[in-house]
Amino acid sequence: MLNASDDPLQRFQPGASPLQRLNNDFLEQAGIRLYIKRDDLIHPHFGGNKWRKLKYNLQYARENNNKTLLTFGGAWSNHIYATAAAGRSFDFKTIGLIRGERPGRLSPTLQFAEKNGMQLHFIDRETYRKKHQPEFLATLAQDFNRPYILPEGGSNRLALKGCAEIIDEIEKAQHRPFDIICCASGTGATLAGLISRLQPGQTAIGFSALKGGNFLIEEVKKHLPEDTPDENWSIETRFHFGGYARASEALLDFIRRFHKQHGILLDVVYTGKMFYGLWQMIKAGEFSPGSRIVVVHSGGTQGNAGFSL
Ligand SMILES: *Cc1c(COP(=O)(O)O)cnc(C)c1O
Repeated sequence: MLNASDDPLQRFQPGASPLQRLNNDFLEQAGIRLYIKRDDLIHPHFGGNKWRKLKYNLQYARENNNKTLLTFGGAWSNHIYATAAAGRSFDFKTIGLIRGERPGRLSPTLQFAEKNGMQLHFIDRETYRKKHQPEFLATLAQDFNRPYILPEGGSNRLALKGCAEIIDEIEKAQHRPFDIICCASGTGATLAGLISRLQPGQTAIGFSALKGGNFLIEEVKKHLPEDTPDENWSIETRFHFGGYARASEALLDFIRRFHKQHGILLDVVYTGKMFYGLWQMIKAGEFSPGSRIVVVHSGGTQGNAGFSL
């Protein structure tokens, strides 16, 4: 094992994730105080919630002297991108099992992953579906010389621990606590991490980036202890825009205008849909005036390469 002073993981200083107040006439009229937690600024390549989820996993792998990370994702996966970049920065070998056939031309995400040293293996969709099965994982452990295996999206117990720190940082930065915290959801692990730290009177909303987002209720529950209350959180299912990585001109236009007005770039797959939905809900009067809302900007803008923004 490396000395602390030689280990780039222990030396790493993540960029600050400030809590920024967002001001505009629309929010003012609605009487909403809105803050953005800028996790997108943590690192240009492995920022956002993907760093939150990797942090304790990488530490665990290092402590156990495991030098290879193996994980799963699709062609546009922010998790694949972040794992490749973090692996390169912190001296891990990385292996990505990618859903589907190898295309003639790799997506920009996968090109980046390969350039950062990730070994890509394409697996058919049926095999990919076994990604959580213990027997399948045991085979992978043998075939790839016992790598540290991260689930799809990096979503495991140690990921929740990292995501819970989002709330700890917000509490340090705010003298009055927030009422509502919002995040974009794919696997639900980030939301579960936030829920694990809610105080009485606070609520959390996960905006599903996928169609049929009600499946997330069970997914979130799987991550949490059984006695966790469930009245103080919900899944917002209305703003999926046709499904994962689908978009409409209205969504792209919203993201362009948001960028112009606030200087903050949202991603199309997750945070753009969340803000679009949140704006609709505020317009419809779904939050009482005086509400203090924190919105987590979980990063993901590398995926915008796939859209004409
Ligand atoms: C992966 C991702 C999410 C979804 O996080 P989950 O923990 O899987 O729900 C949200 N936003 C961005 C930008 C992401 O990359």
